[in-house]
Amino acid sequence: MKLLCPAIGICLSLFFAQAGFAQVYLPISALHVTSPYGLRVHPITGLQDFHSGVDLAANHSVIYAVLAGRVISCASNPFLGNFIRIAHGEIQSIYGHLSAVLIRQGTCVKAGEVIGISGSTGRSTAEHLHFSVRYQNQPIHPLKFLLQLQSSWAVAP
Ligand SMILES: [Zn+2]
Repeated sequence: MKLLCPAIGICLSLFFAQAGFAQVYLPISALHVTSPYGLRVHPITGLQDFHSGVDLAANHSVIYAVLAGRVISCASNPFLGNFIRIAHGEIQSIYGHLSAVLIRQGTCVKAGEVIGISGSTGRSTAEHLHFSVRYQNQPIHPLKFLLQLQSSWAVAP
């Protein structure tokens, strides 16, 4: 069965076959989008830019790995602040602006495992989680991806 997901333009059945994941979690327990994925006016520069992820309201919130995977980077940069990047086959999930990182680079995580605490590090006006998903290193809509995976699994035998 081919499950091409038009919303995100990737073939999910291929992804399942490669990765063999069984569970998907939300990165934060309450999903409240404060800045959507896609073209937007940047809150700091005032210029139009492409937002490669979603910003989710957070307040010292526990952050979870959305899928099982391997932590390929725990680092810091001026934009994302403290961030974590996890590889799940050809998919990567990225969690930015963290105040605390609770896992180490090179380790494997389960879906739903606690990986950090939200914060406002890097280029951020107020505390939030920047969450993004990349497929073959191109950004895809992170929430549509999670919801599509969830609904695909819900109907799978
Ligand atoms: Zn963001």
